[in-house]
Amino acid sequence: MGILEVKDVGKRFGGLQALGDVNLDVAENTVHAIIGPNGAGKSTLLNCLVGKLIPDTGSVMFDGQSVLGRTPYQINQMGISRVFQTPEIFGELSVLENMMIPIFAKRDGAFRLQGIDNMMGEKDIVEAAEKMLVDMNMADKREMHAAAMSRGDKRRLEIGMCLAQEPRLLLLDEPTAGMARADTNNTIDLLKQIKEERDITIAIIEHDMHVVFSLAERITVLAQGTPLVEDTPDNIKGHPKVREAYLGE
Ligand code: ADP
Ligand code: MG
Repeated sequence: MGILEVKDVGKRFGGLQALGDVNLDVAENTVHAIIGPNGAGKSTLLNCLVGKLIPDTGSVMFDGQSVLGRTPYQINQMGISRVFQTPEIFGELSVLENMMIPIFAKRDGAFRLQGIDNMMGEKDIVEAAEKMLVDMNMADKREMHAAAMSRGDKRRLEIGMCLAQEPRLLLLDEPTAGMARADTNNTIDLLKQIKEERDITIAIIEHDMHVVFSLAERITVLAQGTPLVEDTPDNIKGHPKVREAYLGE
């Protein structure tokens, strides 16, 4: 039984069936990739997992509990944290201040930008944020404006902000989109490091095959809103249906 179990999930936008009967089983403490062409329904599926969209049909279970009918905030509290396709950080704040926000929110159950100056007086929160910056190998950037960082470092900060919530399941939607090769490789290394150091399950939507084959233990291929095949990376690479539908051969 997986930590995340998606059964027969369907989602329609007007006349478009974005998701058909999606079944997905993500085993605990694995890296599971979801791949597929543009418009396959990958982001829609992710949105159904985090409460941003409500599926028309089917069920989504996390650690034996249904996520359906819960708000994104409640689902986050259950232990699911999500990295968005474009980095969601506060550019005008320092890297350290950014990192303090999720730690503060986890402790007090509220997310607020007001009172960020008071937050600096909270020694335990500053220390927890500093530790997380060390874990993310970005302690040297703590005073920098977040907006001034490279795309790769913004992504690194954002992943750190998600981890600061201590999730059991980390969801990433194309984390290397728009990145230069060096930043992409750094992101791969960071995710490998996270996997080694923490008890965490990672589900990653990714277009870049280099990233997918560097990280994933299982791969689900989504095409036109329906899972085409789920298998190990080696089997996916050689799968004729996948080559045809996705790798364009
Ligand atoms: P992917 O992430 O795999 O590229 P998406 O899940 O973003 O695909 O989109 C799947 C399909 O659903 C696409 O045809 C897209 O245009 C459509 N779609 C996604 N979100 C919406 C929405 N909010 N309203 C209408 N159509 C949508
Ligand atoms: Mg998408």
